[in-house]
Amino acid sequence: MVLISCKNCHEMYERVDYTSFKCTACNHTVRRRVKNSLQVSLALVLTALFLFVPAMVYPMMEVTQLGVEQGSTILEGVISFLSHGDYFIAIVILTASVIIPLIKLFGLLFIFTSLSINIKMKNKTKLRIFYFIEAIGKWSMIDIYVVALLASVVQLDEIFNIKGGVAATSFSLVVVLTMIAAHRFDTRIIWDD
Ligand SMILES: [Zn+2]
Repeated sequence: MVLISCKNCHEMYERVDYTSFKCTACNHTVRRRVKNSLQVSLALVLTALFLFVPAMVYPMMEVTQLGVEQGSTILEGVISFLSHGDYFIAIVILTASVIIPLIKLFGLLFIFTSLSINIKMKNKTKLRIFYFIEAIGKWSMIDIYVVALLASVVQLDEIFNIKGGVAATSFSLVVVLTMIAAHRFDTRIIWDD
């Protein structure tokens, strides 16, 4: 007899062998391991890290004021909020768009490489890091909401015209790819030898 858990709902089953079957609780196909999970998740994380560069370097939004186009990057935005004394907004934007995405990407990268080169560390610790990353995932979209909100408010004013820049697209991709990488990763791999 073998024990196998559903990746989707974590229901435990006692089976004769590892042939795949449908989970009775959530109808998800239960397999011993998701195929190529580590490789695909690692590739997604590397792509997201690569896209993080344009997200920082290019303007997050382009503001056209009286026909003059201006763009500012995330970091320029943070600095400008700081110089106006809006420390709270500056910290929120910095946390949501720089610190959290980087913690997530490097955390995942660390787990994935530790599995490929066998770093001495308790499996439980790796799993804890992974669940921590999954938990903070929902908070990193805040910045996109801020841009969307600003755009919809200021668009009403004809003098101002704000639209998302290259960085907004790159940043959204970073967030989505990180989410897929974490979601697709089969945590049961951590326990494999
Ligand atoms: Zn299930």
